[in-house]
Amino acid sequence: MKNIILITASFIACCCGTPRNSSTKEAKNKSNKTEKIETAAVSYGKQITAKELKEYLYTFAGDDFEGRDTGEPGQKKAAEFLKAEYKKMGIPSPLGGDDYYQEIPKSYFRGGIKASENVLAFIEGSEKPEEIVVISAHYDHVGVDKKGNIYNGADDDGSGTVSMLEIAEAFMQAKKDGLGPKRTVLFLHVTGEEKGLYGSKFYTENPVFPLENTVTDLNIDMIGRIDKKHEGEDKSNYVYLIGSDRLSTDLHEISENVNQKYTKLDLDYTYNAKDDPNRFYFRSDHYNFAKHNIPIIFYFNGVHEDYHKPTDTPDKIEYELMTKRAQLVFYTAWEVANRLDRLEVDGVGKGGE
Ligand SMILES: [Zn+2]
Repeated sequence: MKNIILITASFIACCCGTPRNSSTKEAKNKSNKTEKIETAAVSYGKQITAKELKEYLYTFAGDDFEGRDTGEPGQKKAAEFLKAEYKKMGIPSPLGGDDYYQEIPKSYFRGGIKASENVLAFIEGSEKPEEIVVISAHYDHVGVDKKGNIYNGADDDGSGTVSMLEIAEAFMQAKKDGLGPKRTVLFLHVTGEEKGLYGSKFYTENPVFPLENTVTDLNIDMIGRIDKKHEGEDKSNYVYLIGSDRLSTDLHEISENVNQKYTKLDLDYTYNAKDDPNRFYFRSDHYNFAKHNIPIIFYFNGVHEDYHKPTDTPDKIEYELMTKRAQLVFYTAWEVANRLDRLEVDGVGKGGE
């Protein structure tokens, strides 16, 4: 009896062995790869540092850039700076060669604004290069007033701009290590936001990659400060998210999950309320994507006493907090760019508004 049982058991083991082993192996390979990508996410996310953000921002929101007024020399200088940084990092432009500027003619602007330019850089996807994940931030600000006060715009939107440089660097390092994003990531620095969202409007009317292949826009506009509501140590670990659930449940869930896993910020959805009187959903560059039914998230710290004043300076930025917020954008982009399926857009018709 004993022997027979043994034989039967080994027979069963033998028959089922081959397919089970190979499917286990496949699953193991797959989970190894997933694990590798997840472990990698953490190590690249950590390359976004407060120290580097601070170095960048003291330059970018310094007096040399004269408040980066649209079409003016300070804004051109800021554009040159961004281009030089991307070149240094070895990140190309989708426009080809040395051309990192999407020119916007004077005629496109109202109110006597001179010609200006968006600055574009990208990392081509390894598996689905035709699908585009956009990360955006405006790099213009409001310039200098009649008394000669320079509006440095450290938070608005120096914080978003330099965060993008750090996020780009992290993705580029991953690519150099053979772990580049599966989908293409476009770093879109838009101009003319302060004058009326011109740069993002121009880009979405003249897209470099078809909008129907554009998976998401993660837009950063002011992530370096703490607003009144969140003053105090127990409340300051936050960021406002606007729009994450309006067009894609997938995007909202990814954002929640990566935050839970990696950044552990309090995600404040106050301004995502449809009846929010501030109407922030319509007030930064992501909206030009959302109106084309492209899922977006707007990352924002709320307004503060230095908002649109010459006192929005780099010494007032909370660099550690800003680092976490930039990392949240990075992890969200990483997940959207690397996941198997494109984000499902299930909020169309609900207007996203
Ligand atoms: Zn802004």
